[in-house]
Amino acid sequence: MKVFVTRQIPAAGLDRIRNVCDCEVWPDRLPPSRDQLLEKSAGCDGVLSLLSDRIDAEFFDHVGPQLKVVSNFAVGYNNIDVAEADRRGIAVGNTPGVLTDATADIAVGLLLAAARCFREGIDNVTHEQWKTWEPMGFIGQDLVGKTIGIVGMGRIGAAVARRLHFGWGMSVLYTARSEKPEIDDQFNARRVEFSTLLAESDFVSIHTDLNPQTEKLFGDETFAQMKPTSVLVNTARGGIVDQQALHRALQAGTIFAAGLDVTEPEPLAADSPLRSMGNCVILPHIGSGTVASRDAMATIAADNLLAGLNGQPLPHRVAAN
Ligand code: NAP
Repeated sequence: MKVFVTRQIPAAGLDRIRNVCDCEVWPDRLPPSRDQLLEKSAGCDGVLSLLSDRIDAEFFDHVGPQLKVVSNFAVGYNNIDVAEADRRGIAVGNTPGVLTDATADIAVGLLLAAARCFREGIDNVTHEQWKTWEPMGFIGQDLVGKTIGIVGMGRIGAAVARRLHFGWGMSVLYTARSEKPEIDDQFNARRVEFSTLLAESDFVSIHTDLNPQTEKLFGDETFAQMKPTSVLVNTARGGIVDQQALHRALQAGTIFAAGLDVTEPEPLAADSPLRSMGNCVILPHIGSGTVASRDAMATIAADNLLAGLNGQPLPHRVAAN
């Protein structure tokens, strides 16, 4: 079986693929270009992809009808046209569950960093502006007893709610497509309308997948409904937030601060004004970046790939939205 792996991934998964497949791995730190992706994948029976690889009808046409499986090294799969894969009988897999805690930790870290002015503080030290203790400087927002609004109460949303409810005594509001009685019981949480969540939350953390309903969910009108003291955290997908509207909101003081692990595009454009905002903490998409999570992701991605190649059900197969 011929396989293309579009980037170096942990040996926990890669070795198992190499043991049984004719496997080529993209060796560079940067992803293959579109042309390189199409060229290397052509004739393959399986492809192990990353979220930076666009997998669509053109890709499937190029690779050929022998393609059985695309295994995405991520829980999100908005880079893949799953409906088109379904139509062609190509299985698509993802890696859910094993990056939940790692990503939730980054969301809480960003919330704390943005609420308590870490970026201004670090810039102050790094740029040799630190002259004295400042009674009027770096004044942030309290966390204890405040309200967290979780947009998308799935695995990661619940893990964030757990940390903030039991750690900081926060009240939990959330949106989701379906009712979650077990979440309501565990965290004394309330499922509310989006507009209620925006108006009542001190912190808003995004945990939906990127889909047609959530694309650019946060824009000028959304920010206008949030508290001026509020903090937005996004560890889901950059496309859920209109980055220019976010910049306007941060600059005008419509909201207090933001913490982003994801942006649109990634990396953020070199001249993006968000890069230089003191009240915007940005990380380069490191949510799942722990040894255990990345090893487990590699293992699941290999399991999905090998199952698909063997014509067996994928342990974690995704369906079109
Ligand atoms: P999940 O368990 O599938 O949770 C997604 C939640 O979003 C579900 O509860 C779903 O509601 C909700 N949702 C979907 N559309 C919605 C809408 N229009 N309005 C309100 N809620 C909506 O996924 P997860 O494992 O928690 O991961 C969530 C996302 O995080 C992934 O899709 C990925 O994009 C991102 N992620 C990022 C990193 C990182 O490195 N930063 C790492 C892992 C994941 P229902 O339950 O009612 O369907």
